[in-house]
Amino acid sequence: MDIKRNILLNPGPATTTDTVKLAQVAPDICPREREFAGRMAQLRSDLVRVVHGDPEQYAAVLFCGSGTLCMDVCLNSLLPEDKKALIVHNGAYSARAAEICRSYRLPHVDLKLPYDRPADLTAVETSLRENPDIALVYATHNETGTGLLNPIREMGALVHACGAAFVTDTTSTYAMRPIDIEADNIDFCMASAQKGLMAMTGLSFVVGRRDVIEASRDYPRRSYYANLYRQYDYFERTGEMEFTPPVQTVYAALQAMEEYWAEGEQAKWVRHTRTMDAIHRGLEALGFREAVRREWQAGLVAAVRCPDDPNWNFEQVHDYCYARGFTIYPGKVGTAGTFRLCALGAIDAPDIEAFFQVFRQALDQCGVAVPVEYGG
Ligand SMILES: *Cc1c(COP(=O)(O)O)cnc(C)c1O
Repeated sequence: MDIKRNILLNPGPATTTDTVKLAQVAPDICPREREFAGRMAQLRSDLVRVVHGDPEQYAAVLFCGSGTLCMDVCLNSLLPEDKKALIVHNGAYSARAAEICRSYRLPHVDLKLPYDRPADLTAVETSLRENPDIALVYATHNETGTGLLNPIREMGALVHACGAAFVTDTTSTYAMRPIDIEADNIDFCMASAQKGLMAMTGLSFVVGRRDVIEASRDYPRRSYYANLYRQYDYFERTGEMEFTPPVQTVYAALQAMEEYWAEGEQAKWVRHTRTMDAIHRGLEALGFREAVRREWQAGLVAAVRCPDDPNWNFEQVHDYCYARGFTIYPGKVGTAGTFRLCALGAIDAPDIEAFFQVFRQALDQCGVAVPVEYGG
């Protein structure tokens, strides 16, 4: 089968290998069969291994849904009665976490910090001290809207010193930037299969501490479908998801996991870094500026400032590139006036070099002067 290869420079879903795409074409199976439960057990244990977790202490819980479901699940399931959550809010994804708290009416502190720099640890420490009833702290590892990296390990140490649980949204770093769940002071992390794992959409997972999940059994049940303890308990007792799993997506994820081990954690991170370096180089050559300082970036997303040239038109540039197999992505609210180029997926530096040839043509087509110009 010949499948057209598109280069996705959006922040997930990512470009996948053909072997992962084709793994979805498999004999029909009822997911209640032991055979399928066995495949999910394998996947769950591998998901813990990716972040170097001890399987006695950490478990992976799978859900059918996009990555936001894991944010929802962690926040609604892990907050004890009469306690508060602290949202370390310095980007569009932690803004979403605060919105989830509001929609469940969870008592929480929305600690709003600047979007263009790593979260200030002193502000986090002060907030923890002023609110001794905080039992759950939530932060984003890589704020995908800007590409900003937060100091998770140091923040986790502060959180643990106060006896709270630490949830990190690692959706846009998991299986890319190496994570050691215990050394990084993470109690819960999460991702969806279509990002770092380079598999398909529709499967998401939380990896976290068994003892904390077990303690959450008696916490208020704020959602019927999206409860962490409920799904964990069902997996532990039966090896299955309580409700229908995304069968073909699980097959793709298993294949992607095989390819992950074959490539290796370090080699994969080196490849993403090489890809990102090619993105930075290509941008620099055209005079583009980025929204966040290079040393504060997680190394997977570049948020690029749109030039002030009156001929600049994101839609038009996008459409020109899209028609030639390259997908670029608009910015997020809060970082208006940016667009994004990401280094996720089964791509490498030569793909980026090919992209920049097309991108340059798109700029010429629009009549944008190169090097691009900024007013301020
Ligand atoms: C992609 C992403 C999510 C989940 O987004 P969905 O559209 O629900 O898959 C959550 N957090 C971060 C940091 C992300 O990059």
